[in-house]
Amino acid sequence: MAEEGQDCIFCQIANGQVPAKKVYEDASFMAVLDINPANPGHVLILPKAHASVYPQLSEGDSSGVGILCKKISLAMIQGLGVQGTTIFVANGGVAGQRAPHLIVHVIPRMQDDKLFQPHPVTPVDGMPDAPDEGKDDKDDKDDDEGEKKDTPPDKQAAPPKDVDLDAITAVLDG
Ligand SMILES: [Zn+2]
Repeated sequence: MAEEGQDCIFCQIANGQVPAKKVYEDASFMAVLDINPANPGHVLILPKAHASVYPQLSEGDSSGVGILCKKISLAMIQGLGVQGTTIFVANGGVAGQRAPHLIVHVIPRMQDDKLFQPHPVTPVDGMPDAPDEGKDDKDDKDDDEGEKKDTPPDKQAAPPKDVDLDAITAVLDG
């Protein structure tokens, strides 16, 4: 698309020239599964118009990214049964950016997934509770069994190792 992006591998993914596991596509964005996920179902949102960092995004694309983060987070919570998402942008090399193209990461989060966790886990309105929420009195006795009894198999903390792409896309398309 943009001339400065012709050699950019992420422009080629965003424009369908390089294959990837597509989660979502519209006129401005492609969302794909990360080939090296932090958690199963880790999605990368790529603007089709090349931008290296967030300040280079058009006003329209920066609005669009926000809406897409919201939709994909909802799709992960409903489709994968996770309890949260981390939305992450490395903006510049000093922030850990390695790709030449702006990437917005949406990472499914589960209780005890051992990813970055700056604070103790606290319930938040509008998000699903962790599977063992509210069962503190039983936790020490039958931790594993309690979770299995009260939680449907598809709603347990860890999603399948090979994430079901359809579980996300079905929510996005619906
Ligand atoms: Zn690019």
